[in-house]
Amino acid sequence: MNKVITGSTSVYGIIGSPVSHSLSPVMQNAGFEAIKLDAIYVPWLVERNDLAEAVRGLRALSVSGFNVTIPHKSTIIKYLDEVSDEASVAGAVNTVVNRSGRLIGYNTDGAGLILSLERSLQFTPSGKNIVMLGAGGAARGAVAALSDAGASKISIVNRTLDKAVKIAQDMEAVFKEVLFAAADYEKLQAIIDSADIIINATPMGMNGDDFARLEIAEFKKHVKIYDMVYSTGMTSFHRFASGRGVEFANGLGMLAAQGELAFRLWTGALPPQSLFMETLLNIIKISKP
Ligand code: NAP
Repeated sequence: MNKVITGSTSVYGIIGSPVSHSLSPVMQNAGFEAIKLDAIYVPWLVERNDLAEAVRGLRALSVSGFNVTIPHKSTIIKYLDEVSDEASVAGAVNTVVNRSGRLIGYNTDGAGLILSLERSLQFTPSGKNIVMLGAGGAARGAVAALSDAGASKISIVNRTLDKAVKIAQDMEAVFKEVLFAAADYEKLQAIIDSADIIINATPMGMNGDDFARLEIAEFKKHVKIYDMVYSTGMTSFHRFASGRGVEFANGLGMLAAQGELAFRLWTGALPPQSLFMETLLNIIKISKP
């Protein structure tokens, strides 16, 4: 890419810490190039304590929009002018649009997961029994999106039980039709017996480490496993699934889909089909040792 930057080039980016590993710049810039939009996307390292100042700066500089990643997805809400319904229920913002000086927060992570489940596993949440491993920011957004998409039951399993209970209680107040349960890993076997899908929203397995709790569990034959983690090697969930003939997908599709939806919020158009996924696969292949 030999992009010429002029005085009218729109500027987008991502704030977070760490941020240098982010694959979003390569995806979003490929998208801008493909639709011939005069825009660039850059990473900005913003430490936890610098968020307020950074948002003031982004406002003053009239950036067109930006993504938000760890550790700012929840704390940024108080610095924005408006937050969409889905971001408000999820309690997290990953995409900000600058509309004539007003900063509006959205969450495309949840919708990105739903799209990826459909594309990679032909899984639609409506009427399904879902087990969510983890109760952090990603799990909360995912539970909100899956509830909104019509899941019948969602069980949140977490090392720290209180955090799973809190998500279940918060969601119960919003999604009256969905049955929520919270548990720690001691109850895992009883819970997954009737699951249609198990979604990993913990960082476990990212470095090839084993998720020992999963090894003791028995699954229904048709269960599917979705791992929000993605890595160049095999995650422990991938190893587990392939050893048992269970259908599996990793979180690369979610990363691509949340990016596509952010791109649409900023530009009004989706990037060309599969462009983000192909770009990610190329980068990951290139960075392999
Ligand atoms: P987070 O807010 O820090 O939450 C982490 C969760 O994982 C917590 O529930 C934590 O349990 C649990 N956990 C951490 N280490 C564990 C261990 N050793 N054993 C069991 N549970 C453990 O992080 P997050 O933002 O939710 O992200 C979670 C994962 O999803 C990350 O790996 C992230 O990269 C991935 N993610 C992927 C995408 C994508 O697009 N594919 C998007 C978002 C996130 P406690 O509550 O007990 O600490």
